[in-house]
This record gives sequence, C-alpha cells and structure tokens, in this order.
Amino acid sequence: MLMSTEMPLFSNALKQLDQALTYTKLHEDTVSMLRQPKTVIQFSIPVRMDNGALKVFKGYRIQYSDARGPAKGGIRFHPQVNMDEVQSLAFWMAIKCAVVNIPFGGGKGGVRVNPKELSKAELERLSRGYINGVADYIGPDRDIPAPDVYTDETVMAWMYDQYCVIKRQQLPAVITGKPVALGGSLGRGDATGRGGFYVMQALRQELALSGEAPTIAIQGFGNAGTHFAQLASAAGYRVVAVSDSKSGIYNPNGLNIEATIAEKKKTGQLVANGLEKPISNAELLELNVDVLVPAALEDQITVKNADKIKAHVVLELANGPTSFDADQILFKNGVTVLPDILANAGGVTVSYYEWVQNRAGHYWPIEKVHTELNTTISQAARDIYKFKTDRKCSVRDAAYALALARLGSAIESHGTQTYFGKA
Ligand code: NAD
Repeated sequence: MLMSTEMPLFSNALKQLDQALTYTKLHEDTVSMLRQPKTVIQFSIPVRMDNGALKVFKGYRIQYSDARGPAKGGIRFHPQVNMDEVQSLAFWMAIKCAVVNIPFGGGKGGVRVNPKELSKAELERLSRGYINGVADYIGPDRDIPAPDVYTDETVMAWMYDQYCVIKRQQLPAVITGKPVALGGSLGRGDATGRGGFYVMQALRQELALSGEAPTIAIQGFGNAGTHFAQLASAAGYRVVAVSDSKSGIYNPNGLNIEATIAEKKKTGQLVANGLEKPISNAELLELNVDVLVPAALEDQITVKNADKIKAHVVLELANGPTSFDADQILFKNGVTVLPDILANAGGVTVSYYEWVQNRAGHYWPIEKVHTELNTTISQAARDIYKFKTDRKCSVRDAAYALALARLGSAIESHGTQTYFGKA
C-alpha cells in the first residue's frame, strides 16, 4: 500500500475511521484489518480504437473487505481515476453496506479514461476489456460491480454479457445496475437520489425542514442529483440552483426541474433562460439555502470554503465531497452533515435487492422496492440520529460507530484461520 501522504483522500478516510473509534471500541487487530484493503488489482486494458490505433487504459479493482459478504461497489470511468480514489471509495463502500446492514463487504473499480472522447463502439470494447481484466476475481459470491460516475446500465449490460461469455453461464447476480431486460431491478435507476430523499424526509423534523418550501442547491446534475431534485421538488422543496461540470443555473424562486432536465437532455447543457442566472460551482456551494447537496465528485468542501457554507444541512449524495478538516469546521459551525455513507446508500441497497431477485429468479414490483428501501434507509437514519443525539457527536461519527461495530463483529467472528481471533 502507498503511504498515506501519497493518498490524501484515503488518509482523509482513515482520519474519519480514527475519530469514530472514540465512540465504538474495537480490538486493535480488528482496527489493523480495517486500515488496509484486502485485495488490490491494477491491470492494463488494450482497446483497438475506431481509427485502427491501439490504446492501453489503466484499470483498477479493489476489494477492501469481504468480512460481511462479497465485495460490492461501482466502476467509475473518469480521467482522474487513481489508486487513492478507488481505495477510498472501496473503503467507504465497506462502511456504507454496514451502515444500512446489507450483507456485503466493500469494493470499487475504475478506469482512467475520458469516456466522452470515446465512440460507442470504443466504450463497449473498453467495458468488455475491463471484465477480461477482472473476470477471475469477481462473481456473485465474491465481488459484485455496479455503475458509478460516467458508467450506466448500458455499460453494465456489456460487462455482464462479457462475464457470461467468459464463464459460459448466465450469472446475472455478478453485476447490478443492469437493464431490466437483463435482470436489473425496477427502481435501481433513481435509487441513490431516492434514498437521499428518504433520509431527508425521515429526519425532516430534527433538521427543521418542516416549514414552507425549504430551499435546496445541488452540485452535480447526473444520476444522483437529478433524481433527488425531482423527488424533492415534487414534495414541495424549492430547488433554487443546480450545476454540472460545465455550468450552473440559479433562480431564488425555484427552478422548474422537469423543464431543466428536458433542456439538458436536448442541449447537453444547463442553460440559463430569462428567469435564471448562471452560477459557478463555487458560488453554488456558498448559497444561503437550507440544504446543500454535493452530488458530483470528492473534495468539494474543503478548509478553503467550509467557513463560507451557509446551508444548515449538507446532504452528501456524492462520495467523499467533504474533507476531514472541513467536516470539523462544519460541525463547529452547527452545520449538520448527512454523510455519504448514509445519504447515498440507496443505490447499493437497491443493488442488494437486485442481487436477491437475481438469485431467487423472482422479480419484485416497483412498490415493493420503494417500500423496502424507505424502511431500510429511514430506520438507519433514525438509529444514527439517535446515537448522534445521545453521544453529542456528528452524524458521520454516529454512522461510522454503528457500522464499525457490525464490521468488527464480523471480522472477529471469522476467527483465526481467515482473519484472526481474540487470543
Ligand atoms: P453521473 O455521472 O450520473 O453524474 C455526475 C455529475 O457530476 C454530472 O452532472 C457531471 O457533469 C457532474 N460533475 C462532474 N464534475 C463536476 C464538477 N467538477 N463540478 C460540478 N459537477 C461536476 O454520476 P452519479 O452516478 O450521479 O454520481 C455522482 C456522485 O454520486 C459520485 O460521487 C458517485 O460516487 C456518487 N454515488 C452515485 C451512486 C449511483 O448509484 N449513481 C451511488 C452512490 C454514490
């Protein structure tokens, strides 16, 4: 493993772990296990481009922990993908699955690529090449990939198909986030945004959001951000600003979310019309709103802007959007952060339902998916909030404390042959 100074994001994650250990006591050997990934895979993916040239991409897969079940986590296609990022995301997946108490460990994968520069055929070859690289390490009982930033159900379909070609078997439970036609679950598409919305609703009273039309700003208008915006706006919240990697729009009276989505679909951009003003990502983060929703990438709230955050609730749909030091500032300033490991756990929860349905060969109606998700994530939110209130800690510390107790108990129960045991 690289030293933590070479892995700033992972060292951020370990600081969160260390802080949470103040609230839950674990055996020192368990803590040693939790501080390192179990398996790290780095590989090359040669892809024949449409112009005949060969390009070699760098692929990663990390199985951080399988103590509570097979590793589980998405695959990201992004030009900034690196080992630090993948390892941190894999670690958070292990914690997240324990937060919502689903029987999975944590994993993550990625390819360092700008998918926007690839043709559809090149993207398919890259997706299949990724599976060629990891086919011996993944599987329904081993490690189950899913979509993440710039990967979607089409990419999952190609990956699943490639896995079946290699194994000469139909094994739908190897990948989640598949199209419904290939065994995907109803309700997986909007599960992350929906889960975040259910968390906000479950704690609405506690977060003082029960007044008229509380305001929301959302950074990142992709899968997670868009669905959250739709549900919040339909429930009477006022979504006043949204942004993506290229631009942002702001209207203090509230945006028409359905029209904004339609416009983005048509033009590929967030365009300010007469009622809306353009807004930069930095300005959006500092808006005076009730709820700020980072839904793009890591490290958006740092020591540089934490003191300028005016929202009283930060709901982290993105993974790792707040640095450790920024988190301390927000806590001191009375900002309630609903952490990623709770707020965006809806995606992996419905992925778990997809895996269950694939294994049972029996498929659920959408209402059942929504009801099960609401029950699971709202219960987790209430348990965590109670812990936070009782122990006067942050919501993140409370979520970690409950998750670490579950993870620790699984690691210790495995015994000395697999892991170690109490002497
Ligand atoms: P996506 O690819 O659908 O959307 C990402 C969005 O972020 C896009 O709108 C993009 O333009 C925007 N973006 C990229 N760089 C940006 C920047 N510098 N500033 C502002 N916006 C920027 O991805 P997604 O699935 O919505 O994932 C978003 C976040 O949510 C990621 O952190 C991801 O790990 C997390 N997440 C997603 C899921 C899921 O099921 N999709 C589950 C859990 C967590």
